[in-house]
Amino acid sequence: MLAPWGEAAAQAAGPTIAAIATPSGRGGIGVVRVSGAGLAAFAEQLVGRRPKPRQATLAAFLDGTGRPIDEGILLYFQAPHSFTGEDVLELQGHGGPVVMRMLLARCLELGARLAEPGEFTRRAYLNDKLDLAQAEAVADLIEAATVQAARSALRSLSGEFSAAVDGIAGALVDLRMLVEATLDFSDEELDPLRDTALVDRLARTAAALDQLLARSRQGILLRAGLHVVLAGPPNVGKSSLLNRLAGEERAIVTDIAGTTRDAVRETIQVEGIPLHVVDTAGLRETSDAVERMGIERAWREIERADVLVQMVDAATGIGAADAAIAARLPGGIERLVVHNKSDLVARAGQRRVEEGTVHLFLSAKTGAGIDLLQAELLRVAGWQDHGENAILARERHLEALGEARRHVDGAAGELARLELCAEELRLAHQALGRITGEFTSDDLLGEIFSRFCIGK
Ligand code: GDP
Repeated sequence: MLAPWGEAAAQAAGPTIAAIATPSGRGGIGVVRVSGAGLAAFAEQLVGRRPKPRQATLAAFLDGTGRPIDEGILLYFQAPHSFTGEDVLELQGHGGPVVMRMLLARCLELGARLAEPGEFTRRAYLNDKLDLAQAEAVADLIEAATVQAARSALRSLSGEFSAAVDGIAGALVDLRMLVEATLDFSDEELDPLRDTALVDRLARTAAALDQLLARSRQGILLRAGLHVVLAGPPNVGKSSLLNRLAGEERAIVTDIAGTTRDAVRETIQVEGIPLHVVDTAGLRETSDAVERMGIERAWREIERADVLVQMVDAATGIGAADAAIAARLPGGIERLVVHNKSDLVARAGQRRVEEGTVHLFLSAKTGAGIDLLQAELLRVAGWQDHGENAILARERHLEALGEARRHVDGAAGELARLELCAEELRLAHQALGRITGEFTSDDLLGEIFSRFCIGK
């Protein structure tokens, strides 16, 4: 049944939405979040009194008959001073699945509807609380798999990326004004000083775009990481090497969303770059159907690997099984040969290039030469600045930056035909506007927010 205030509220702003914002399962506290209009009245029906904005209120959450469902903390954020820019309620109850479902059901009974994934953040965006790049950073922060990725997402969330994009967009606006003003007075004699200024400014804008592109490319690495395949026979030291690479950071690394952890796959990090390591020891002929499925999955991982690390015993060299795996590898995958147990032959810490393939001699046991492998993996990844400036960008940001960059080049090439130059500048500006959501289609918004979790 829709409560009377609900209809008015639904007309004033979008419908009231509600969702459980905490993960499913049991926890000390669980949160149901509600966003919409007129939520003071909604809260009054829920706890029997009007809440004060921004004050934590200990209250019993009541069902339709006035019987308590749970006792917890009620928070009320009055529009526009909330995450979504609408009235927001947070019901902090006991974090059990049954309690949470009952609280959510009560909110739906009071007229809210279930929020779609990312709908709270979408409303924040639509109400100008965040721009699109910041909204994306919310999801990236939640999904961050390493400390560096989290820091980088937070930088974007706090607006650092948007400010850099806006800075360049501002420079483009100035350039457009300059060019268009020149167009208006095209009968007058050309001013060589103005031309030089234009060329200078275009070059500075191009350089700023290049810098932002480089920072964004680093961020893509932080997000997606590098797929590394460790191949080698049993006992060559794969587990030892993994432990050595992971060091003390291993405990805080989580698998990236959407992938299942199975026996042959592990995610570690080196300098904050997630390395998804597939251990191919399990890749053998088998008649077991379940095992075969696991192996097929491992092969699919391998086929999208960035690097194959072939581990060999420093004393014996590459074996037939390693050669077979290498032979099945698709092209475009870098290959490194790691001669482990080099401590036994006193060669640990050496690097050699033979026929274009890098050979590293190291010891997982003593740690000698591990730094070489880390450096080599980061080199393959194209990692440069250790993350302090990286922007946790997405492919669509890179595309937009690249497009803007091409149009700036186009503008520089059309100085003799200022109408075309102006058009190129307009297109560059428009491409940047897509990043922050200034020029954005509904389809894109749907695509971005549908990947969020419910309750965010
Ligand atoms: P996996 O089967 O490939 O995962 O190999 P493990 O990591 O379990 O190692 C097999 C054995 O080799 C263990 O006894 C390790 O202690 C030993 N081992 C691993 N790396 C080294 C190394 O660099 N030097 C020496 N001397 N022994 C090692």
